[in-house]
Amino acid sequence: MFGLMQDRPLLISSLIEHASAFHSHAEIVSRTNEGPIHRCTYGDIHRRSKQVANALTALGVKPGDRVATLAWNGYRHMELYFGGSGMGAVVHTINPRLFPEQIEYIANHAEDQYLFFDLSFAPIIEKLASRMTGVKAFIAMTDRAHMPAADIPNLLCYEELIGAQGSDFAWPELDENTASSLCYTSGTTGNPKGVLYSHRSSVLHAFIACSVDGFGLSATETALLVVPMFHVNAWGMPYAGAMCGAKLVMPGPGMDGKSIYELIRDEKVTLALGVPTVWMMLLQHIEKVGADPKAEAELRRVVIGGSAAPRAMCEAFEDKFGAFVVHAWGMTETSPVGTVCNLLPKHKGISRDERLKLQLKQGRGVYGVELKLTDDDGNRLPHDGKAFGHLMVRGPWIARRYYKDDTPILDAEGFFDTGDVSTIDPDGYTQITDRSKDVIKSGGEWISSIDLENAAMGAPGVAEAAVIGVAHPKWQERPLLVVVKKEGAQVSREDMLNYLGSRVAKWWLPEDVVFVEQLPHTATGKLQKMKLRESFRDYRFPG
Ligand code: AMP
Repeated sequence: MFGLMQDRPLLISSLIEHASAFHSHAEIVSRTNEGPIHRCTYGDIHRRSKQVANALTALGVKPGDRVATLAWNGYRHMELYFGGSGMGAVVHTINPRLFPEQIEYIANHAEDQYLFFDLSFAPIIEKLASRMTGVKAFIAMTDRAHMPAADIPNLLCYEELIGAQGSDFAWPELDENTASSLCYTSGTTGNPKGVLYSHRSSVLHAFIACSVDGFGLSATETALLVVPMFHVNAWGMPYAGAMCGAKLVMPGPGMDGKSIYELIRDEKVTLALGVPTVWMMLLQHIEKVGADPKAEAELRRVVIGGSAAPRAMCEAFEDKFGAFVVHAWGMTETSPVGTVCNLLPKHKGISRDERLKLQLKQGRGVYGVELKLTDDDGNRLPHDGKAFGHLMVRGPWIARRYYKDDTPILDAEGFFDTGDVSTIDPDGYTQITDRSKDVIKSGGEWISSIDLENAAMGAPGVAEAAVIGVAHPKWQERPLLVVVKKEGAQVSREDMLNYLGSRVAKWWLPEDVVFVEQLPHTATGKLQKMKLRESFRDYRFPG
């Protein structure tokens, strides 16, 4: 017997309709490419996203066609999210930090028909336009006065394009499983792979950001989206913002510590979300200028994901801002939210040290994400906080296949292999120890490079640290610690080993420490371990 409830599709257009009906005055604040801070409301985004939908229709875009963006976080990008997906097109967000050849590859692989770009990216478009064979026009996301003087074929002006359209548009009632957006993984090997989200998966995922044990987004929060809209839909926050009417603050091209701090302070940001590399720049800026965020800002919570949150970073946010770090784990294939580290009633009254240890874990599976750990043969491992295994996930916002790729990616039970190695403790807290290919195998045991990096990043004078496994004649592999010092700091190999000596198991101690000017990062700000391993290919441990 079926239930007798209404069957309404979960559509992205319903999010902006809701925002317009109930939160039409809540603000979207954007730092623009043109310079000034721009302010508008969900009411404006609603109206203009319908103009976008009309403009796309006039250009001949049909349901299912791919429309690309190469843009920072900002109100026009948000209009494209709602207008593009709302009218049935698939919004393909391109990561501008990818190599030009990768951008060309994914635009052609996705068969993008139109490409909307921010002014900062005019030089990339100028270079690649002739090789993006299917793109019928390139639309600069600006007004006539700021159009780039670039040699780009079929160049259109965003404000003129949508300005010519009315704001009446009836959103089509799509099947909720219709594709809504497309994001390519910035994998370190092979060609990027496309993850194709649906309206249903995006709306269900947005509920998690708005749940108290998720990111706790609500109409009372002012959320700074440092995480880019070109990387997994800014962790779904534009959708979640519309769902609950939170004020959103968009940093545009200003991703440096100073610009981010100004937005946090001036816009009274209460919740900020981003990857550790950006937070590192913010914290360095605060230290450099001697700012007093506790007195000047209202930040209460910081969501850190994309890479492991180091303990020193959690402490700095707590001590300097009075803000609580919410550690989260996910990936492009998981929309991305998989686990979130919030506390349980049993943690009331635990010491700061115990709590910080807990916050370094990536957290518990949110409703909708099932987790399991397996060994190399696919057998389940216990959730005892000790067994390391392959982290496998299943759920309605987890990919079941890549775009235009028939290779099966699920196991017999329908779980996706995340490529991460993890433990899960009896309370359900996941702790990522490594990417499976980065695990250090020493004398038959596994050493977690993430744990070592976290510990090393707390040492005085250390700006950033990475650990890789290097071949060892006796132990198969041993850890090598690679350190970037803070500006002007004096740190020696012995200082590092002494510092780590009291913090990690003896057999985990790095065999050697080397200092470098900088570490390689991927297009999404993660340490590029493969590149680092390559640059140390000829390295041999002393003795
Ligand atoms: P991407 O698809 O580019 O977002 O990358 C996803 C990968 O980032 C995951 O598979 C993890 O290896 C890593 N990752 C994401 N969040 C965390 C976290 N909180 N701690 C450690 N690694 C993370």
